[in-house]
Amino acid sequence: MASELEPEVQAIDRSLLECSAEETAGKWLQATDLTREVYQHLAHYVPKIYCRGPNPFPQKEDMLAHQVLLGPMEWYLCGEDPGLGFSKLEQTNKPSHLCGRVFKVGEPTYSCRDCAVDPTCVLCMECFLGSIHRDHRYRMTTSGGGGFCDCGDTEAWKEGPYCQKHELNTSEIEEEEDPLVHLSEDVIARAYNIFAIMFRYAVEILTWEKESELPPDLEMVEKSDTYYCMLFNDEVHTYEQVIYTLQKAVNCTQKEAIGFATTVDRDGRRSVRYGDFQYCEQAKSVIVRNTGRQTKPLKVQVMHSSIVAHQNFGLKLLSWLGSIIGYSDGLRRILCQVGLQEGPDGENSSLVDRLMLSDSKLWKGARNVYHQLFMSSLLMDLKYKKLFAIRFAKNYQQLQRDFMEDDHERAVSVTALSVQFFTAPTLARMLIVEENLMTIIIKTFMDHLRHRDAQGRFQFERYTASQAFKFKRVQSLILDLKYVLISKPTEWSDDLRQKFLEGFDAFLELLKCMQGMDPITRQVGQHIEMEPEWEAAFTLQMKLTHVISMMQDWCALDEKVLIEAYKKCLAVLMQCHGGFTDGEQPVTLSICGHSVETIRYCVSKEKVSIHLPVSRLLAGLHVLLSKSEVAYKFPELLPLSELSPPMLIEHPLRCLVLCAQVHAGMWRRNGFSLVNQIYYYHNVKCRREMFDKDIVMLQTGVSMMDPNHFLMIMLSRFELYQIFSTPDYGKKISSEASHKDLVQQNSTLIEEMLYLIIMLVGERFCPGVGQVNTADEIKREIIHQLSIKPMAHSELVKSLPEDENKETGMESVIEAVAHFKKPGLTGRGMYELKPECAKEFNLYFYHFSRAEQSKAEEAQRKLKRQNKEDTALPPPVLPPFCPLFASLVNILQSDVMLLIMRTILQWTVEHNGCVWSESMLQRVLHLIGMALQEEKQHLENVMEEHVITFTFTQKISKPGEAPNNSPSILGMLETLQNAPYLEVHKDMIRWILKTFHAIKKIRESSSTSPVTETEGTVMEESSKDKDKAERKRKAEIARLRREKIMAQMSEMQRHFIDENKELFQQTLELDASISAVLDNSPVVSDMNLTALGPAQTQVPEQRQFVTCILCQEEQEVKVESRAMVLAAFVQRSTVLSKDRSKFIQDPEKYDPLFMHPDLSCGTHTGSCGHVMHAHCWQRYFDSVQAKEQRRQQRLRLHTSYDVENGEFLCPLCECLSNTVIPLLLPPRNIFNSRLNFSDQPNLTQWIRTISQQIKALQVLRKEESTPNTSLSKNLENMDQLQLPEGFRPNFHPKNPYSESIKEMLTTFGTATYKVGLKVHPNEEDPRVPMMCWGSCAYTIQSIERILNDEDKPLFGPLPCRLDDCLRSLTRFAAAHWTVASLSVVQGHFCKLFASLVPVYNFGDLPCILDIDMFHLLVGLVLAFPALQCQDFSGISLGTGDLHIFHLVTMAHIVQILLTSCTEENGMDQENAAGEEELAVLALYKTIHQCTGSALKEIPSGWHLWRNVRAGVMPFLRCSALFFHYLNGVPSPSETQASETSHFEHLCNYLSLPNNLICLFQENKEIMKLLIESWCHNTEVKRYLEGERDAVSYPRESNKLIDLPEDYSSLINQASHFSCPKSGGDKSRAPTLCLVCGALLCSQSYCCQTELEGEDVGACTAHTYSCGSGVGIFLRVRECQVLFLAGKTKGCFYSPPYLDDYGETDQGLRRGNPLHLCRERFKKIQKLWHQHSITEEIGHAQEANQTLVGIDWQHL
Ligand SMILES: [Zn+2]
Ligand SMILES: [Zn+2]
Ligand SMILES: [Zn+2]
Ligand SMILES: [Zn+2]
Ligand SMILES: [Zn+2]
Ligand SMILES: [Zn+2]
Ligand SMILES: [Zn+2]
Repeated sequence: MASELEPEVQAIDRSLLECSAEETAGKWLQATDLTREVYQHLAHYVPKIYCRGPNPFPQKEDMLAHQVLLGPMEWYLCGEDPGLGFSKLEQTNKPSHLCGRVFKVGEPTYSCRDCAVDPTCVLCMECFLGSIHRDHRYRMTTSGGGGFCDCGDTEAWKEGPYCQKHELNTSEIEEEEDPLVHLSEDVIARAYNIFAIMFRYAVEILTWEKESELPPDLEMVEKSDTYYCMLFNDEVHTYEQVIYTLQKAVNCTQKEAIGFATTVDRDGRRSVRYGDFQYCEQAKSVIVRNTGRQTKPLKVQVMHSSIVAHQNFGLKLLSWLGSIIGYSDGLRRILCQVGLQEGPDGENSSLVDRLMLSDSKLWKGARNVYHQLFMSSLLMDLKYKKLFAIRFAKNYQQLQRDFMEDDHERAVSVTALSVQFFTAPTLARMLIVEENLMTIIIKTFMDHLRHRDAQGRFQFERYTASQAFKFKRVQSLILDLKYVLISKPTEWSDDLRQKFLEGFDAFLELLKCMQGMDPITRQVGQHIEMEPEWEAAFTLQMKLTHVISMMQDWCALDEKVLIEAYKKCLAVLMQCHGGFTDGEQPVTLSICGHSVETIRYCVSKEKVSIHLPVSRLLAGLHVLLSKSEVAYKFPELLPLSELSPPMLIEHPLRCLVLCAQVHAGMWRRNGFSLVNQIYYYHNVKCRREMFDKDIVMLQTGVSMMDPNHFLMIMLSRFELYQIFSTPDYGKKISSEASHKDLVQQNSTLIEEMLYLIIMLVGERFCPGVGQVNTADEIKREIIHQLSIKPMAHSELVKSLPEDENKETGMESVIEAVAHFKKPGLTGRGMYELKPECAKEFNLYFYHFSRAEQSKAEEAQRKLKRQNKEDTALPPPVLPPFCPLFASLVNILQSDVMLLIMRTILQWTVEHNGCVWSESMLQRVLHLIGMALQEEKQHLENVMEEHVITFTFTQKISKPGEAPNNSPSILGMLETLQNAPYLEVHKDMIRWILKTFHAIKKIRESSSTSPVTETEGTVMEESSKDKDKAERKRKAEIARLRREKIMAQMSEMQRHFIDENKELFQQTLELDASISAVLDNSPVVSDMNLTALGPAQTQVPEQRQFVTCILCQEEQEVKVESRAMVLAAFVQRSTVLSKDRSKFIQDPEKYDPLFMHPDLSCGTHTGSCGHVMHAHCWQRYFDSVQAKEQRRQQRLRLHTSYDVENGEFLCPLCECLSNTVIPLLLPPRNIFNSRLNFSDQPNLTQWIRTISQQIKALQVLRKEESTPNTSLSKNLENMDQLQLPEGFRPNFHPKNPYSESIKEMLTTFGTATYKVGLKVHPNEEDPRVPMMCWGSCAYTIQSIERILNDEDKPLFGPLPCRLDDCLRSLTRFAAAHWTVASLSVVQGHFCKLFASLVPVYNFGDLPCILDIDMFHLLVGLVLAFPALQCQDFSGISLGTGDLHIFHLVTMAHIVQILLTSCTEENGMDQENAAGEEELAVLALYKTIHQCTGSALKEIPSGWHLWRNVRAGVMPFLRCSALFFHYLNGVPSPSETQASETSHFEHLCNYLSLPNNLICLFQENKEIMKLLIESWCHNTEVKRYLEGERDAVSYPRESNKLIDLPEDYSSLINQASHFSCPKSGGDKSRAPTLCLVCGALLCSQSYCCQTELEGEDVGACTAHTYSCGSGVGIFLRVRECQVLFLAGKTKGCFYSPPYLDDYGETDQGLRRGNPLHLCRERFKKIQKLWHQHSITEEIGHAQEANQTLVGIDWQHL
């Protein structure tokens, strides 16, 4: 850094460095015209400091600016050394109680749901943790930047406004002290002077619009001729466009262009070229030309460098002011005064006004700086906050107008400050009263929505992008209105009443423009040509929903206001309906002797609109009148006489009829826009102020009119009047079979109408309509939601309407109606309905959608069946209506209603197919049930002497009247009770009859003496037998249904398999895979099972039969038969790695023969265990490949697997695979024919023999490679060479395997090589066998780790897939040498052997500290046959295995002793030294000697032995697995159970002495030599001298990083994280690597790097070093786990954080507090340990195709 800066420093004008702050300040103190003096100083110096070249040098500029410009000001202000002055100020300061911390992007913020006045009141993390709210119900979000902490604002919190830190001195806040008293007169005067000048300067220069000319008082004498080409940001052009254009225009690299674009996006502008005017102008024109083709061009200005310099300093100055006022509240107040002081030009001329009013002209960076200053000054001083608020309100209209034209997001607009004033209750009220704010906002809003139709209603044209943009901006006004209304007044002054009502008038004007907007007419004949626009109107309605509700809430608070508002609303409604009854002659309707007049109107023929906000507001107010009892107290004040019920109901009724007709299919030709409108009309987001209020309005109307009249009008609007007024309609219709569609349509309409009547009578859970409270209303909603199915908290929240504070009120009542069931390892916590609440279930609950209704019906009936109850779902008992609505119930017993009921029952009795429907009947039965419940209630609650006017039972007992003389309703019900075609409804009819009789009994008992109960019981008895028969029949129906479901189930099974992979595999393997009887039923006695060596337990040959999953053919696994293969997936791995910084640098040169003990760069093989014929697989793979090629030509899409890289999905389980492993018999048995146990060499002899053989081979090899020796000479030499006895190096054994197996051996070997080294396949490469052995060893090690970490027994029940995989992999690796070049394998063996026994100089072999002994063991054992096959001296393979194993084990023990941590860790020796301890101590001494005493002295053999035992254990366990799978010897049963460590059992099984040290003693001589040779290695010496490190044993398992309990601390951590590449910028998508804990700046241009020629994001780049291409991340801001594999694959995974309701919150949308779920985190860790991340991604991508399209490499 220093060297880079040097030339720059030299270039600095010496005069700058010599300029003394103190002297300058001194001059200023003397000055007569301070302004002139300061301006001259600035004019002279600013251009010398800023903008001296094409690129800014912030450090240099800051340094100089402080020295030359700001320093003098600080001196001037303090009158002394500012270091002293400011600290004095700080000491005398009485700090404010406001926290005021301004939030950074991504910083966590907290809001208390119990105490915050509204959701915009938030705390910073520090204040939150020190507040009482941390124990309340809080919500957590991440800030989008801007806004500040409300701690200390007493208006923001109902309780606990201070945190501990800000609570200090709260006693003093009452008295509003002037902070200036703490400052001296001098300081005050100087502060005024300097602030006034500097603030003015900053405002002037920032709002300066000329491009090449400075304000006159800043103009310089000598002016340079340098310009900038300044590029500004907008929200039209994309990053890519800007980058592309810049490369063209200013001829820069892509990287530079990205840099420019990033800065433009962040700061709002950036100079892209520096030079003379022409030069800059040229760049400008290219940019404008290039970006102006389709859209508005990018904004570019050519600005003189001195202007830019002054502007840069202006920004610096504002930040400086912000920091200076932090020293003292007094200085803050002075700055506020300066800012708000009216300037010379009067109104709007204060500096604050000037800044606000030029907001939209400023660039982003400038706006951010001055907004911040406002926040830390004006908004922190309560007195000036108020004055500022007034200025803001006065400028409101202008600011909004500017904002509409501005193209920046709202967050960087000054209008976004509204939340700071409008949500503060006293300020908001002050602004309403003094500035008429409500009216201003609404009027401004109306001004911006100018398009009206002929009737003056809003008219939205087709929604273009630019309109949508503008419309979105207009909506922020609604947000402001919401802010103003959010805190409701506790007291009303006359002024407030007057201004509120004025605002209400304006609001009614707004609603009037919406009443009847977007009218529609039914389309007949042709389908509509173009879907009409509907979204804008609904967006408006949706945004206004809360405002409408809040208006009503305000009205409810004051009776006078309520009455006035009601009158106003009614008046406006009448205006809307002006001329409503004029024109055509009314029609007269008459039924049952009642008649009524109504207008002619037909929904299906005339215009109808779904938007009726005025009617709905009136309905809301009417309910309030009823609730607050104003209607009874001052009826004379109300315009009740003016109400015309028919007029009130007309429009809501039309709207409901429209819905019914749409449902009946009459509006099919009107397209989707109508369907959408109907959907939203009922949707939870809108229904409160739409559908619900329409129901209330009808209820209001009905309660004020004759129910018969209402019903007739309703029949007429439903266009059903004819049907019910014509006797014998049913008969007529059924004779005319031609009108089938019409009949169907009418049936639906009748059903809908009945449903509407049910709702009108039954929906009384709105406080004011029925005698209920808000809690009852919510309870009922929840009960009905949970009647459908148990639900998670978030699901339930979504189904309930939220109020303006985003609360549903659910938490307060949920306990009363539901039980909570905790979640398991997956899934979510669920609420279940309490059984006792089921009786409140109403099948015709008005907020059910049709689908929900039928689901709920089914669920409830099922429940009843389970409880062995009858399945009737009778209407619940309802709360009584409020008096204003009380007469509504009479609709049930009105003549027209009875006629409708009777008619439908009649149709049912007649049972002629087409006119009646089951739904119709069900609804009639429900209505009858409701009437009976009503009557029962009346009887039960009757007061003495009261006449009961509700006499439904009497009415239905009477037969119908002339002319058709039908039987009574009751009679018909009794008839229907036995109708065979009404099976489903029988329970309900029976319930009705029972209730009827019960009511009769009550009536009789109340009128006369108690009556006997006979009637009821008799009836019940008689029906008992029938019951039985019925139940039997029902059982039969149920059985049939079950069968049908079973059939569907098998269909669904495929999906099930996907979801429950592991479970499925474990069960399925039993028949589909290797019928492995080998393992768990040992043939030989357990006691002396030996896995290897000459004494190896002989296992009888097991025949193995497997079935191909592709052709279903069974085949035996044999050496000579066709190959059977397992689908397998090979991947590189760092899961066991102890050093993740290591990775293969140059794969072409990398030598994998020796694995380093840090286990970096492993190759893992996994398999789903599914078996196929090799040729079946080949055919399958070819077809996949062909299909893929065709598909890629058609659509260039990715799949979840990469065919070009050999990837495919297992045809059975769709598991990602990239090769296949052949199935083999234990390969050793094939070569064991020459077994001879009689005379086997001991270790020393064996080593000698092998060493000789190796020497011989090496000599031969050397001969061969010498070019001038002919073949014959070669042979001669061989004779000369003393070949060890029985060794025949020119013998080449015959390969026993069939061609197809050989081919598969090569296939898998090559795949392992290709993937493991990331090279092109080359089956000839000598490294192929090494990779095979390595993968075998690594895979065994990783499985041993998992078993160990999970405390599972080594040979416990392993999942079949793992078992199959390990067996095949081991046997494959053992057989692979048969297809490799013999001399290559021999060469490997020689080298591996030489690493332990120095027989031949191979040059650079690793020392024993740098060899993973298990990898070495596997390599030696598997390469050995290549040497042994030429040995005819009688040494068996088994002998070799045993000696190799013993040798490696001893080397490992030496390795452990060399590296064991020698701390005694305070553990005491338990008992006297045993045999092992003494032996290990002796061995240690030997090593000690060999190392020349460099090894530390160890006093205790006990500790040593413990170390050795613990250190060698993983190796022994891996070896046991290896030999078990290699030789097929069953494991001892003890090792199949956990508990102990099984050290002895393992030793027995592995043919080792229990005292491992005995191995050394038995082979004393040779071991002494070997130990010496190992210890003399220079690397070992360096280690012992502390010059290098080595891995010690046992190695610890890798874990994912520790995560904090509380998620917010992660957010906080991430919010402090800044992008490492763009100098302190906050990262937008901070992402945490769960493997190593690195925080990355994901998903952004700044941190893209190039990887293998492609640009990749920070995460993908990180995976290459950290996880060999696989990565596990946590996206902190999204609370989402991200899995990545390679460049194209990835998926999101559910995070290990849950809220109290057992749910995750991906995207942090709900903001409930989140806590770590350890089980789920373990599950992720397990996926990682099991190498299943890639597989998981594959499954996720198969299940969700949209994941395939994501550009994972850019994350
Ligand atoms: Zn705070
Ligand atoms: Zn605080
Ligand atoms: Zn609280
Ligand atoms: Zn097959
Ligand atoms: Zn499979
Ligand atoms: Zn990492
Ligand atoms: Zn970055």
